[in-house]
Amino acid sequence: MEKLIEKKLAERGVSIEKIAEIVYVLQERYVEGLTLMECREAVRAVFKKREVQHAVLTGIALDILAEKNALPSPLLEIIRNDESLYGIDEVLAFAITNVYGSIGLTNFGYLDKTKLGIIGELNNGKNKQVNTFLDDLIAAIAAAASARLAHSIDGNIYLNYLNESD
Ligand code: MG
Repeated sequence: MEKLIEKKLAERGVSIEKIAEIVYVLQERYVEGLTLMECREAVRAVFKKREVQHAVLTGIALDILAEKNALPSPLLEIIRNDESLYGIDEVLAFAITNVYGSIGLTNFGYLDKTKLGIIGELNNGKNKQVNTFLDDLIAAIAAAASARLAHSIDGNIYLNYLNESD
């Protein structure tokens, strides 16, 4: 299933690499010696979660249906125009931010404001693609991957502490 998610995102113009770059920017100052490869691994781990898979499948399907004018009004216009008061794109993304605890939600809020990297490109919508759900899904995946990295580092610090106190 995680391969399918990777493929679906690639079809919409988002590679794991692009998500990993955002994770790197968020975490480099907290994680000493962080590499892009570790960021990619964190993103892949997020893809393994069922809540994430279902949110991605749902959001991308709605973006594509809006593109094809295949949704009923007024939902069609709301999603096509990315109405700022719609808010359900963010609500769907919360299913992803929560998978590694509350740090994910904080990171998501930050990305929603700053629109780092590919998130900004999707939000500007230079191509004709509808990205109403996709930009929030990507922000949420990057936020969750960052939270996972943060927790793994905390875990290491704790293990080091236990070893030192032996
Ligand atoms: Mg959106």
